[in-house]
Amino acid sequence: MGQQVDFLIVGQGICGSFLQLELERAGLSHILIDEALPFTASRIAAGLINPVTGRRLVTTWMIDELLAFAREAYHRLADILGSSFLTPVVVADLFPSAQMRLAFLHRLEENGPYLRLPEDERHLLDRFHYELGYGLIDSCYLVDLPGLLAACRRRMKPLGLIREERFESGELAVEEGGVRYRDIEARRIVFCDGVAGLAGPWFSRLPFAPNKGEALVVEIPQLGLDGLVVKKGISLVPWQENLYWAGSSYEWSFEHAQPTELFRLRTESALREWLKLPFRIVDHLAAVRPATLERRPFVGFHPVYPAVGILNGMGTKGCSLAPYFAHKLVQNFSTGAPIQADADVKRFTKVLNRK
Ligand SMILES: Cc1cc2nc3c(=O)[nH]c(=O)nc-3n(C[C@H](O)[C@H](O)[C@H](O)COP(=O)(O)OP(=O)(O)OC[C@H]3O[C@@H](n4cnc5c(N)ncnc54)[C@H](O)[C@@H]3O)c2cc1C
Repeated sequence: MGQQVDFLIVGQGICGSFLQLELERAGLSHILIDEALPFTASRIAAGLINPVTGRRLVTTWMIDELLAFAREAYHRLADILGSSFLTPVVVADLFPSAQMRLAFLHRLEENGPYLRLPEDERHLLDRFHYELGYGLIDSCYLVDLPGLLAACRRRMKPLGLIREERFESGELAVEEGGVRYRDIEARRIVFCDGVAGLAGPWFSRLPFAPNKGEALVVEIPQLGLDGLVVKKGISLVPWQENLYWAGSSYEWSFEHAQPTELFRLRTESALREWLKLPFRIVDHLAAVRPATLERRPFVGFHPVYPAVGILNGMGTKGCSLAPYFAHKLVQNFSTGAPIQADADVKRFTKVLNRK
C-alpha cells in the first residue's frame, strides 16, 4: 500500500528541518528523505546569526524581520524538542588593522545598529594578542546545528516521518496534480538538498554560486569564552565543552569539497600568533555552501511544474533565513500569500522555462 502525503521533502539540513516543522504546524502531512552524509553545510557550520556584515559593518538583508522570526521559531522548536538549540552571544570583533578600527568607530558614530564598544578594550588581553582594541556586536545568536539536526531526526524516526536513504531523482514522476516517488504519492515535493540541487534536473539552471568553507575544531581548555564569539580574520566560536570552531574560508573556486592541508596550516599558524593559550586541533571540517550569485535565497514552486518546489540558496546565512522562508513557503501553499519577489524562485521563470 502506497503512502499518500501532502509534501515530500528531500534533504534534512537546516532548510528541510524547518520545513518539516512548518508543515507540521500547518497540519500538512509529509515525509522526508535524507541520506545521512557526514559533511553537509548544516552539519559543519558555526551556527552564528550575526546582524551586521562585511568590512563596512552594514546591517544584513531583512535582518530585523528575520531575527524576530528566528527567535520565535527556535523557541517553538525548543518546546517541541524539549531542549534549546539557540544561545544569545556577543561577537567581539578584534580589529585586525587601524582601518578596520576606524570603520567600526565611523559606523558607531552613524548610529549603526547592534554596535558598541566594550567597557574595557583590554579585557581579552589575557587570552589573545591584539593591539588595536575591539568592538562588540549585539543581538547575535549561536545555533547548535549538530544538536538540532540530530534531535529533529530522533523525533521524526519513531513517527515514521523520515527515510534515511538517497533520493534518486530519476525515479520521480511529476504529474498534473502531484508527484510519485516509489511508493509515495505527494501533492508537492520540495528540494532542500543544498549543493546537490545544482545537479538535480529541476533547478540546476538557477544561478547558484557554490562556495566552499573549511574550519578546524580546536581544544582550548583554558579559554572559557562564556557567551562570546571572538573574531580576528578567523572566528572562534564555542562548539562543545572546551572545543571551539575556528574558521572559515570562503572559496569560489575549488577542486573538491574535502579539507585541505593549506587551510589547516594557515589557520593553525594564525591561531598560534593570535592565542596566548595552548591548543590542540581535534578535527578538520569542510563543506560547500549553497550560495547564489545575487546572494538571495531560492524559495517557492517551479513556474512550469508547480508540484515541484525549492527551499535552498541560503548561502552563509542558513540559520536566520531557513526558519523564515520555510514559513513563507508553507504559507504560499496554504493561503496563496506571495513570497517576496527577491526570494521567490519565480523571478527566474524565463530561465526555468527553457527546455
Ligand atoms: C564552513 C561553513 C560555515 C558556515 N557558517 C555558518 C554560520 O555561522 N551561520 C549560518 O547561518 N550559516 C553558516 N553556513 C552556511 C550554512 O551552512 C548553510 O546556509 C545551510 O547549512 C544550508 O542548509 P541547507 O539545508 O540548504 O543545505 P545542507 O545543509 O547541505 O542540507 C542538505 C541535505 O540534503 C541531503 N541530500 C542532498 N541530496 C540528497 C539526495 N539525493 N538524497 C537524500 N538526501 C540528500 C544532504 O545529505 C543534506 O542533509 C556555513 C557554511 C559553511 C560551509
